Amino acid sequence: MDAEQLRQYLEFYQDLGVKSLYRRTVVAPAAPAAPAVEVAPPAPMELPPLAPSDDTLLKIIQDIGDCRRCKLHEGRNKIVFGVGNEQAPLVFVGEGPGADEDAQGIPFVGRAGQLLTQMIEGTARKEGMNLLRNDIYIANVVKCRPPENRTPEPEEMEICGQFLHRQLMAIRPKAICALGGTAARALTGHKEGVTKMRGKWFKWQDIPVMVTYHPSYLLRAYNVEPKREAWEDLKKLLHYVYD
Ligand code: SF4
Repeated sequence: MDAEQLRQYLEFYQDLGVKSLYRRTVVAPAAPAAPAVEVAPPAPMELPPLAPSDDTLLKIIQDIGDCRRCKLHEGRNKIVFGVGNEQAPLVFVGEGPGADEDAQGIPFVGRAGQLLTQMIEGTARKEGMNLLRNDIYIANVVKCRPPENRTPEPEEMEICGQFLHRQLMAIRPKAICALGGTAARALTGHKEGVTKMRGKWFKWQDIPVMVTYHPSYLLRAYNVEPKREAWEDLKKLLHYVYD
């Protein structure tokens, strides 16, 4: 990060009302031990810490307000902040809202969202866990729907990703699940496609990240093998978090 990027970064936080930045202490993982990271992280960017120590989801929502910080605000109906248990040990992160999410202001409520719910609850049931969608937390990298459901641009992800960063810091889950390549790349910094990354453990800060397919990809009828792989990924993830 050069001096100009750092200046813009700090201005962004000043704009959010964040008055002070602190360097977070890395806490040793509690038992059971975190899964071994299977893919070494790329060279880390030297960033100042992003969230105040007393941050809450409510405070982040208030800071977002009627956000116009990137051009995605132009076509949105509702900001889609996130939904679920604010103390969830597991957070799912997708790419951005679609049409149904934009209309309702809730992430993963369309067909892909229904499949995600079935996958979470169905896998948990089969593995003997009592887990409902409401027990976890779901958010996206960007909070406003990109036009024509296009992939968010790097600048949009960088700007809005700061809110995701604060959400994750406020929740501090035991693990994160990145749904699809865009979320995976945003969280891990790796540039590979999702087929290479899925089923492996990465890290966001000191939190393990499991990468799997986005449910909208799995809705395509011919994707039989990816469906099986996604169930495998979820099993691995749920056992790590809830065993
Ligand atoms: S996508 Fe994020 S940063 Fe952009 S306008 Fe929406 S809330 Fe603001």
